[in-house]
Amino acid sequence: MTDFTMEIGADGVALITWDLPGKSMNVLTMAGAAELEAAVDAALADGAVKGIVITSGKETMAGGMDLNVLADMKTEGAQGVFDGIMSLHGLLRKIERAGMDPKTNKGGKPIAAAVPGTAMGIGLELPLACHRFFVADNPKAKLGLPEIQVGIFPGAGGTTRLVRKLGVMMAAPFLLQAKMSDPQGAVKAGIADEVVADPVAAARAWVLSNPEIVKPWDAKGYKMPGGAPYHPAGFQTFVGANAMINGQTWGAYPAPKALLSAVYEGAMVPFDTALRIEARWFTSVIMNPSSSAMIRSLFLNKEALEKGANRPEAPDQRVKKMGVMGAGMMGAGIALVSAQAGIEVVLIDQKQEAADKGKAYAEAYFDKGIKRGKSTEAKKAEVLGRINATTDYNALADADLIIEAVFEDVGVKAEVTKNVEAVIPATCIYASNTSTLPITGLAKASTRPDQFIGIHFFSPVEKMALVEIIKGKKTGDRAVAKALDYVRQIRKTPIVVNDARFFFANRCIIPYLNEGARMVSEGVTPVLVDNAARMLGMPVGPLQLIDETSIDLAVKIAKATKEAMGADYPADAEGVDGLMFWLYDQGRLGRKSNAGFYSYDDKGKRLGIWDGLTEKYTSNSDRPEVDEVQDRLMFAQVLEAVRALEEGVLEDIREGDVGAILGWGFAPWSGGPFSWLDIIGAAEAVKRCDRLTKAHGVRFTAPKLLREMADKGETFYGRFGAGAKAA
Ligand code: NAD
Repeated sequence: MTDFTMEIGADGVALITWDLPGKSMNVLTMAGAAELEAAVDAALADGAVKGIVITSGKETMAGGMDLNVLADMKTEGAQGVFDGIMSLHGLLRKIERAGMDPKTNKGGKPIAAAVPGTAMGIGLELPLACHRFFVADNPKAKLGLPEIQVGIFPGAGGTTRLVRKLGVMMAAPFLLQAKMSDPQGAVKAGIADEVVADPVAAARAWVLSNPEIVKPWDAKGYKMPGGAPYHPAGFQTFVGANAMINGQTWGAYPAPKALLSAVYEGAMVPFDTALRIEARWFTSVIMNPSSSAMIRSLFLNKEALEKGANRPEAPDQRVKKMGVMGAGMMGAGIALVSAQAGIEVVLIDQKQEAADKGKAYAEAYFDKGIKRGKSTEAKKAEVLGRINATTDYNALADADLIIEAVFEDVGVKAEVTKNVEAVIPATCIYASNTSTLPITGLAKASTRPDQFIGIHFFSPVEKMALVEIIKGKKTGDRAVAKALDYVRQIRKTPIVVNDARFFFANRCIIPYLNEGARMVSEGVTPVLVDNAARMLGMPVGPLQLIDETSIDLAVKIAKATKEAMGADYPADAEGVDGLMFWLYDQGRLGRKSNAGFYSYDDKGKRLGIWDGLTEKYTSNSDRPEVDEVQDRLMFAQVLEAVRALEEGVLEDIREGDVGAILGWGFAPWSGGPFSWLDIIGAAEAVKRCDRLTKAHGVRFTAPKLLREMADKGETFYGRFGAGAKAA
């Protein structure tokens, strides 16, 4: 055995220890499951064994299932998945029944879980199948079922057991929202049984204490806490849960719906039948292409990018001390997340008050956290102690990274570059957080353009997970490595792209916003536009998003783009510009002025589409189908992503997919624009492009690459291979 070992003590307790060789955290493989089953079989059959304790040899219990297991099961089709899942159910059910007589519930050996730390996915489902669940008093440990976040749901009995244990209402946040608990919280919620200093010792004593081991759902007269679906209270719960799920997901995600079906149907039948139902719904979710796409982008590829999949060879570039130029909205956020990561930060603005205000942002952030019990005064003092708010450039003398976040103005930025380069060490890397100005142009102000790079954060910095790293024409490998090592330090997800107008994320989001506005300008009901987007799984409709990011910014970008593009500025932008400039002239700047596409009350609560907008624009009685609106919104984004790939702005489709989901919330269920195109197929995509081009204009013309792939029957992930490099 390699993953699981068993040791039978003189006291008659069989200690089964899970300790995957060469890994810092356990994951369950099929071979591991077989080893665990063999150990349990042997212990149950051994007359000298009085009880069993299952624990981990690591500081944590387990991170979950090895995702290759699901991929392997899938190669055998739906039946393969179902059989694989049923065999896991068989193992966990064997532990739960522990050799008891099925009729009398007599006999059997107590089995306790001794969980030393974090237990996620199958790492939690295994203890849930044991008769008692001890967890170490480790406040850093996280217990939970994160499956829903990658498009699946807990399928190894976690769903059925948690609902039977806690009731539908109490289990819902753990199943549907992947709520995590620390050990105390898990006991309070009823997931674990006891927090103890030494879980193995406690479990050992418990199994020897001749305890009652029949699970409530295996005993006569079991009633589900809170009521099953046919109970009046249970019925209400399901009505509410359905409404909540559809309200949150707009029906775009398959997994929460399948989960609720498994819970509802499972709640009306005996436990073993409920497990079969869970396995059937789990199989349907696994066979849906959305789940593999979500797992690939949000788990595997996200992690690969975070670990430096596209990092050039260079020595360790971790940042010790950095300068942040400009203590405005972005600079303040960048200083906060950097100081939190242990980096010394010099936060510079033109006036001391402005620099102090930037630092005060971090202070307010911690005060809020302390109020909510999520931070402490000591932590606040420690982090604030690392931020030196000043106007003195000499404080940058020993910095190894600069991030500039001053006004979006070439002249101002050039001045800052010159002044900073006069004091920083020759080896220091200099980055700009610009959102629109090409890096190659900004680098002209630098005497060392190979050390000049774009590090583009999204707002609000402390919440947004993506950081876009932009290589200018002359940017060198060490600058890229530095940016990647820094992003890793602050625990965000990087993508690396080449320099072009709006880089990658903004380049794709702008056509989405424009298409939404364009439809309104054509007379399509605004509500239809935003709702169609939500039904696609976009977190925010385009009109609402324009309000959030502000209409004056949209007008500013449109004007600057027009100036930069001159005669190439697309003629079909007229409708959009007309609408946006009109809103701007009306003083409707979006949420910040409490007036935009939407109306807001005095407190800033969004009320509904502004009447004035519908009065002026909604004249089109020939209302388009939802699919038509959705196709326009979707293709506006994905075609831009394909063009970015074709033009070499994007070098790796993994970055395109992960960046789209984390950067602007591109329909996460799809796995990103390239995954979505793979799901519908290049041929279908081209067909829809041709139709959209005919109906709405040349902006929907299928890129050459897509047409070629359609002809050859290729997919993006097939064509660009496992490494997913486009070049
Ligand atoms: P902001 O106006 O809130 O802050 C800019 C700060 O820079 C101000 O505090 C200003 O006093 C300071 N500043 C100006 N000139 C300076 C100088 N010579 N020396 C030192 N400080 C100086 O702007 P912001 O929204 O934080 O944006 C800053 C940069 O980040 C811009 O390049 C912007 O395009 C980019 N960006 C903004 C967002 C966003 O959502 N706001 C997102 C990504 C990137």
